[in-house]
Amino acid sequence: MKVGIDLGTTYSAVARYDKNTSKPVIIPNAFGKEITPSVICFLDDGDILVGEDAKDMQSNGTGVNAAAFKRNMGDGSIAVSFNGKDYTSEDLSAMLLKHLIEDAEKATGEKIDEAVITVPAYFNDFQRTATIRAGEACGVKVSKIINEPTAAAISYGYKHAADKTVMVYDLGGGTFDVTIVRITKGNIEVIGTEGNHILGGKDWDAAIVKYVCDQFIDEYDVDPRDDLPTKNELIVAAEGYKKTLSIAESVTIPLNYDGYSAKYTLTRDEFESMTEHLLSATKDVCNSLIDSLQITWTDIDEILLVGGSTRMPSVSRFLRDLTGREVIAHSDTDLAVAKGAAITAELYCSNATGLRAMQVSDVTAHSLGVLSVAQDGRKYVNEIMIKRNSKVPTTTRRQFTIKKGNVTDKIEVYTLQGESRVPLDCNVLAKVVISGFFNRGQGVIIDIEYNYDENGVVNITAFQDGEPLNVEAQPVPDDIRWMGGDPHDKPSDEAILKNIAICVDLSRSMEMGNGDVLPIDAAKQSIRDFVNTLQDKDTYFSLIGFGDKIKVVQELTNDGYAILNSIDELKVKMVGRGTDASPLDMARSIVSSKPGVGIIVVLTDGIWGKKDNAVEQARGCRDDNITIIAVGFGEADTSFLRQIATVDDGALFTTIDRLGETFGTIATAISSGNMGLREGAAPGGRTQVSSRD
Ligand code: AMP
Repeated sequence: MKVGIDLGTTYSAVARYDKNTSKPVIIPNAFGKEITPSVICFLDDGDILVGEDAKDMQSNGTGVNAAAFKRNMGDGSIAVSFNGKDYTSEDLSAMLLKHLIEDAEKATGEKIDEAVITVPAYFNDFQRTATIRAGEACGVKVSKIINEPTAAAISYGYKHAADKTVMVYDLGGGTFDVTIVRITKGNIEVIGTEGNHILGGKDWDAAIVKYVCDQFIDEYDVDPRDDLPTKNELIVAAEGYKKTLSIAESVTIPLNYDGYSAKYTLTRDEFESMTEHLLSATKDVCNSLIDSLQITWTDIDEILLVGGSTRMPSVSRFLRDLTGREVIAHSDTDLAVAKGAAITAELYCSNATGLRAMQVSDVTAHSLGVLSVAQDGRKYVNEIMIKRNSKVPTTTRRQFTIKKGNVTDKIEVYTLQGESRVPLDCNVLAKVVISGFFNRGQGVIIDIEYNYDENGVVNITAFQDGEPLNVEAQPVPDDIRWMGGDPHDKPSDEAILKNIAICVDLSRSMEMGNGDVLPIDAAKQSIRDFVNTLQDKDTYFSLIGFGDKIKVVQELTNDGYAILNSIDELKVKMVGRGTDASPLDMARSIVSSKPGVGIIVVLTDGIWGKKDNAVEQARGCRDDNITIIAVGFGEADTSFLRQIATVDDGALFTTIDRLGETFGTIATAISSGNMGLREGAAPGGRTQVSSRD
């Protein structure tokens, strides 16, 4: 059997589509009731009660109660801890769903294998996937997640053939949604939706609790809310008084606590004026939606009331005043959502016998973006890829450039859900690592594709030149404060190992000169400073001298003493006894001999023989993601240096006097990752994407 389940904050309901009557029908719970309280009670003896029984216990103040847990769905927080066990909202929802399903199976004598579950329209990706998981945890296939207001519109629009634009005003127990829907010949097209997920009937209950407690404190100087069972009782009772005020002009509320007894009268007028700000909060949401869709109230034909709290008479009056449109109460407010879900279950899960063909299109309540580095490089921004109120399913592909200096073999992409350009104002939905792209050292251009599926769940894919790339999901780090800071300061998860080979020209000209300092001495001093600046446990250095032949003066080491000693040893005549290999090939094999980022710094003062070979070897280094920085002075050939450098600005022409300064610039670039350091060596150690436009 396929069912629709309204998993409400305060009450839940289950419905199925009756093919004989072509109508959705509610499946009653074990008590014969159409709605079941969304409450779970943990008893001291280890028993766990769900639904009606739990609600009774809640009013008795017995056991540990969990109610309104839907408000924390998907945030991973612990909703209840009992007998040493922690329960998240997802766990509690799974327990509630299991109970609803078992009751429905008993009532119908049929097994439930598929369900459509409803969620508030503004539920984000976490909350939707948590709902799917909760359903699947009780062995039911969740064939679709559908937005509550859309479900209500389906059960309404299904019966109404006339074309109209309807605003669904859904004020439930803990949530508020407003959705604008176009109904044409029974087809439902959602145009836009907006919500406030912390506003609902509970806030009206809380206003009553506050009203009586404030007076009690004035009279007796004690607060009944200090005692948890009394507070719980009051909250439950307040809901009853609120409902009474929907039909009566006033209620009398008795309150006994700490040996004192009092009775307070609350009139409907007083109740309405002390909760005016709550209705006003819904007005802000409605106006904001109308504005964002660039429509006016005259474009709306009707206001459809959904959710238990719309039974308060103030709601329709307020809406009539606000909109000037006809306000219609859904004939079965509490059941409309479950029935819409049941119709959807039939429509989506079978060949829909007996059901008039109906198209339903929904929108996304949140914009979806990618964390990017702003144009000025100074901050992170949320680059919106899919705007909210886009029709789902929807897909957007955008090209991103990873600058040459920031290219690694992996790209981290953070997905944000929210409207703000400021990343920390949004939900960080997911982190994926993209790999498998070609990197020829010229920066990388990739296409990132975002997709909202029909359930409002996000999928991410990536391409280079049309070819799909590997996209691996990784957990979002707990600490994401860096998203609010400077991209250059981004902390690295793992240390980046750097292997730096310094190739020093030891041809005779290095020991000749007419200035105060010989080139070789200036080189030694500059390299010493360079090593001292960069030296740490993750940075390894090697020293190679070259002239007619080459000599590896120091193998790769992170021993500062050894490397500084080898710099002191550098002299022209040492290469005479060296080998015939080329310095670039030797440096390449040395820096590749250990995991990490490979960097070769070449210092030369003259013209190289076998230039073509060297350019070819430099290309090989580039293919291996090794960065070559070429420094020249004296007779050095600038265009050749440019040919062997593998990064922009990687060829530096200088003078003996300024050699120290030049090496200082290189050291800064390497430590900040700004100069073509590969393998996770973007500023702060990570690759970042920049939007192309
Ligand atoms: P829902 O989430 O749609 O089931 O709505 C539940 C909320 O509707 C709860 O806060 C109830 O207290 C509230 N509610 C139900 N009936 C009434 C009523 N007659 N008057 C005022 N509020 C009501």
